[in-house]
Amino acid sequence: MARLVMKFGGTSVANIERIRNVARHVKREVEAGHQVAVVVSAMAGKTNELVGWCREASALHDAREYDAVVASGEQVTAGLLAIVLQDMGIWARSWQGWQIPILTDGAHGAARITGADGSRIIQHFEERNEVAVVTGFQGIHQPTNRIATLGRGGSDTSAVALAAAIHADRCDIYTDVDGVYTTDPRIVPQARRLDRVSFEEMLEMASLGAKVLQVRSVELAMTHNVKTFVRSSFDDPADPKPGTLICDEEDIVEQQIVTGIAYSKDEAQITLRRVADKPGVAAAIFVPLADANINVDMIIQVVSDDTTTTDITFTVPAADYERAKTILEKARGEINYATLQGATDVVKVSAIGVGMRSHAGVAAKAFKALADKGINIRAITTSEIKFSVLIDAAYTELAVRTLHSLYGLDKA
Ligand code: ADP
Ligand code: ASP
Ligand code: MG
Repeated sequence: MARLVMKFGGTSVANIERIRNVARHVKREVEAGHQVAVVVSAMAGKTNELVGWCREASALHDAREYDAVVASGEQVTAGLLAIVLQDMGIWARSWQGWQIPILTDGAHGAARITGADGSRIIQHFEERNEVAVVTGFQGIHQPTNRIATLGRGGSDTSAVALAAAIHADRCDIYTDVDGVYTTDPRIVPQARRLDRVSFEEMLEMASLGAKVLQVRSVELAMTHNVKTFVRSSFDDPADPKPGTLICDEEDIVEQQIVTGIAYSKDEAQITLRRVADKPGVAAAIFVPLADANINVDMIIQVVSDDTTTTDITFTVPAADYERAKTILEKARGEINYATLQGATDVVKVSAIGVGMRSHAGVAAKAFKALADKGINIRAITTSEIKFSVLIDAAYTELAVRTLHSLYGLDKA
């Protein structure tokens, strides 16, 4: 007997027919003798609709009430799955975050899980042989007794946190693709499914835009050593495939130099032209942004045409773009720049692979390949196991495909 967490995303629970299909997957594991906790997302599109209603109600809505609204999508699917399971003769009950409880901090809308108590669920496994159906995406901020949500894609994190809390043998993340691919299979049909991917690489891929797993879920899987698979809910419930295992680097036999390509459209570029080239300027620019909690990612500085001043280009999350511009316009006196230019039609394309630690020239090869396709690089960042380039959004697919084949990732 094993203890499992099975997580199903939005498309997997999109309607009652899909929920019945989920129940068949659960039934298979229960009949194999396993103890099962299921984590569900809201039906596909539901969270977007709820977010839209909050915005329509008020542009400046109370984040605690936003959470009260958007957490409701998961409550519906958890109850429905419990009903369908019972109807199939499997004893099940739904649990909301606060009933377990899954504890969070007070950062409403993007809360972090601070603890999860698995004891009640385990007790129900032991005493009642009961399947637990748990709402993803939500927990409770105990000091204020308010519901909090974990940020978009947060049900993945709920699942891994729950798996750690109940000491599950495995956490299966069921989604609409049958594993983690070398890049988003929706934009590159040649993408290959990976049997295994290391925690470090998955962390980078998720941070750099591969939304198949929420970043925080990978962090938790890594720190709590949760055996996590990404697999498809669209497989035949009677004959499922294993999917992709997220594991330690040492457990991967055939290591590539580059494992995957990711892209993110959630970036915006800001360029300050003709900034005085003297000490303290970078601080004048970046301290006010940091104080406003705006994360600056790529930074490049080049001497301007007149050679006495410099141009500084950097990126911020697209959601913070307007705020960042306002802050910089206010600080214009101290920074002393000639013009501020911005662009939101940019995309960050990244290549990830632990093999980069031991191979030189991996990024240089990409710069040439992109140049050959006429793609202009606006900014670059590199770190130990990845590099990223900022380019015009119009070239997203071309750039991703170019890098994907450059590093030999296309399927045979
Ligand atoms: P769910 O609703 O099940 O949580 P998501 O939409 O959040 O599903 O994540 C699955 C999607 O992630 C896939 O449909 C795919 O388009 C996208 N994706 C992006 N990058 C990758 C990748 N490298 N491997 C697999 N899927 C990816
Ligand atoms: N329903 C939430 C969202 O769409 C959480 C999730 O699906 O993981 O972001
Ligand atoms: Mg998701």
